[in-house]
Amino acid sequence: MKLQDSSLLREQAYVDGQWVGCPSLPVFDPATGSRIASVPSLQREDVKHAIRCAGAAFCSWSRLLAGERAGFLRLWIDLIRKNKEDLAFLITCEQGKPLSESRDEVDYGVSFLEFYAEEAKRLYGETIPPFRRSSRIVVTKEPLGVVAAITPWNFPMAMITRKIAPALAAGCTVVCKPAIETPLTALALVALAERAGIPPGVFNVVTGDAVQIGIELTANPLVKLIAFTGSTAVGKLLMNQSASSVKRLLLELGGNAPFIIFPDADIDSALSGVMFSKYRNMGQTCISSNRIYVHEDIYELFLERLSYEVSKLKVGSGGLEGVDQGPLISQSALIRLEQQIKSSVDQGAQIVKGGCRHSLGGTFFEPTVLRDVRDEMRIACEEIFGPVAPVLCFSDEADVIARANATRSGLAAYIYSCNLSRCWRMAEELEFGMVGINEGRLSTELAPFGGTKESGIGREGSRYGIEDYVNLKYMLFGGLSH
Ligand code: NAP
Repeated sequence: MKLQDSSLLREQAYVDGQWVGCPSLPVFDPATGSRIASVPSLQREDVKHAIRCAGAAFCSWSRLLAGERAGFLRLWIDLIRKNKEDLAFLITCEQGKPLSESRDEVDYGVSFLEFYAEEAKRLYGETIPPFRRSSRIVVTKEPLGVVAAITPWNFPMAMITRKIAPALAAGCTVVCKPAIETPLTALALVALAERAGIPPGVFNVVTGDAVQIGIELTANPLVKLIAFTGSTAVGKLLMNQSASSVKRLLLELGGNAPFIIFPDADIDSALSGVMFSKYRNMGQTCISSNRIYVHEDIYELFLERLSYEVSKLKVGSGGLEGVDQGPLISQSALIRLEQQIKSSVDQGAQIVKGGCRHSLGGTFFEPTVLRDVRDEMRIACEEIFGPVAPVLCFSDEADVIARANATRSGLAAYIYSCNLSRCWRMAEELEFGMVGINEGRLSTELAPFGGTKESGIGREGSRYGIEDYVNLKYMLFGGLSH
């Protein structure tokens, strides 16, 4: 590990200001398959202890002024910025994405800390005109309590800070369980939080068996919110498990994004939108374009240009200069992708580019373009999570809207057209939480990120993204005399 600060490589979990547990679960570099570190497998009792400590820390952390908590967050932000290269390196080592994307992820991750450090100062309450002369109605916002954050491997840092930032800023304390593939970034982050002086118990990171940890986090009455990013299947399971203690849920789940291109679109811009939304992070993002609908008038032209762009992508280890596409996260991801492609080809889709494992071996896969894809094919119905662009053909606006909406997911959608009326009309009719209009890059801390239907509940980012971390309290002052 070529870290400038080797003490950022942590092989223990962090509970109540202590580094705990014996490293036993290996973490692999997906580019080489080699073990880079190990992290502990904490038991259910350890997780219960972490929750108890977070509960105790809540008493004092929640009573600080928002500005005092922002002070801690600012120290943490400074340390993250100073150690940006090491954090980016860790992300690439355990997740595989190119180093340039990892650097972008560190910036994106920090943006949530910066935003919410300030936003918590604006957690305004309200007075409401009373129903009696002698009374007054006041509404305040209070921090919720202990929050459980369960995060995926595809953005090892940003999916954590998108939750931790509003939680800590609002006065909550956190027990975080990062994905087993990518715990090292989480542990480096908490090491920097410790250096920033964030008090023991405020931000805890536990590693180990997801099922056992999940059972404790959802059953424990001290935990007030499950903030989860991951697959829809696990999201549903956590919803079920949380029912017994009536927990609030913030769920950021899977997507199946349509990307619709009309003949009046700026083709260069549509092409760059597809390249970004499809091939960033090797297609392993929840807002990745999953079904690219191209109008019949420009279908052949677009395919030709897309294939040319894809042929220029350089595949290799994420740490190497100039690489655009790293490895997939795991063998099982690779096998699933192959099955999706095979099943679609069996039903008549054609491979225009790629389609196979890359000659580099391991979990490297060729950036792929498929044509003649139809809605009923597996590749169009399922979330792909790989560098495969399925291109479908359409002729009519109403028809493409119906096809785009015919999914149980509702996270992101994209439209490319120079007809403003059409863009408005479609943006309103698409049943998705986010719509990119002549724009393929949606993610920012300034806007509410989240989905409809089975893509989730709640929003992250923007002023809306702190609302799940507070309770409204209605106070009725009575007996007031004039
Ligand atoms: P995943 O398998 O659902 O895992 C996500 C997290 O949940 C991991 O920390 C995992 O732990 C944990 N987990 C798994 N089973 C659990 C259980 N029974 N109880 C408690 N925790 C459990 O998802 P993934 O493969 O890591 O991530 C990819 C998915 O995330 C995709 O569907 C993607 O669309 C979605 N995603 C959504 C957004 C969004 O904002 N909507 C953003 C990014 C990703 P282990 O790793 O230890 O198994």
